[in-house]
Amino acid sequence: MSGEFNFIEKIRRRSSQSGQRPAVIPDLHLGIGDDTAVLGEESGRETLITVDLLVEEVDFRLDYAVPRWLGHKALAVSLSDIAAMGGDPRFALLTLGIPPSLISGERNGAEHFWEEFFDGYFELAERHGITLIGGDISAVPAQMTIDSIVMGHSRKGHAVRRSGAQQGQAIYVTGEIGAAATGLRLLFAGERANQSERCLVQQAIRAQLAPDPRVEFGRRLGRSGLVGAMIDVSDGLAQDLHHICNESRVGAVIDAGELPVAPCLDLLGLEQAQRLALALEGGEDYELLFTAARAVEDQLREMAGPDLRLSRIGTIVDQDSGNSAILIRQGDEHPHPLKVRGYDHFSR
Ligand code: ADP
Ligand code: MG
Repeated sequence: MSGEFNFIEKIRRRSSQSGQRPAVIPDLHLGIGDDTAVLGEESGRETLITVDLLVEEVDFRLDYAVPRWLGHKALAVSLSDIAAMGGDPRFALLTLGIPPSLISGERNGAEHFWEEFFDGYFELAERHGITLIGGDISAVPAQMTIDSIVMGHSRKGHAVRRSGAQQGQAIYVTGEIGAAATGLRLLFAGERANQSERCLVQQAIRAQLAPDPRVEFGRRLGRSGLVGAMIDVSDGLAQDLHHICNESRVGAVIDAGELPVAPCLDLLGLEQAQRLALALEGGEDYELLFTAARAVEDQLREMAGPDLRLSRIGTIVDQDSGNSAILIRQGDEHPHPLKVRGYDHFSR
């Protein structure tokens, strides 16, 4: 058997070891191994589908990558998109562009790299009941590329869009913001991951390299029908809130003091204004940012449970209550327009 087909066979075996045998999943009629996968249809639900491209030297670097965490992140970023729609992620496809140094063979540690990569990928897949149903592989001349697709479901009409925010709703965010951006700065400054340590430096690096998407909470929010608009924080909170405001044709006022800024940001020794800017503009937190009526806050907190922090950071307002879509308030002072900057692939 050729190298490529050997490699696919290994992935297929790993996939079925993870309990992902088509036979036990009713709506998966055919998984890896044919020209396409075959999925059964069910009325009353909608299919959500999303894809994310990760390119070496742009989205990650192999010199600081932890293979296990790279496999994890490849799936995590797409799971986060399904969570942000309030959906239930089910199936995944994975396409790999593999550079010469990582061609699977008993040389260069490539075998080891892929074993760990798939350990990370399938560990996360198993945790959330995701089945890998296909993908593709190509050799590439230089940079490694990873294309991750995830499909999921939501009850008909229940997918939570960016366009559903309404004036008067409160704005919530899960977890903490700014840790992943801090981690990236630390990696650029020469810090490296240590999987067994949990100090602040390592918390930041882990947030950057192995983010944990809010899959379960997103699913619950979707089912509850309590949420107006939702997005995952991938480009930075300010930018992502801006997307909600644009799509919903509303404005927002944020309370700076309510932002759940990750403690590891203090490691960077920034002045207060820069610290706030990094928390608002740093991307890749993969937290959920959403709007809902104040009246249902207790229900939201109950859904989040004791382990997931949920912060109310502001209010949705009428669009023309200011000349910028987003205003920010520091303490008692009058709110001022927030400059929206975030990650933009075409502006670097
Ligand atoms: P084709 O030539 O039709 O693209 P392939 O030989 O590339 O078929 O793939 C054979 C089977 O293996 C298909 O079911 C495909 O979905 C699956 N496959 C290929 N690459 C991957 C991958 N990276 N991850 C999961 N499944 C894969
Ligand atoms: Mg192919």
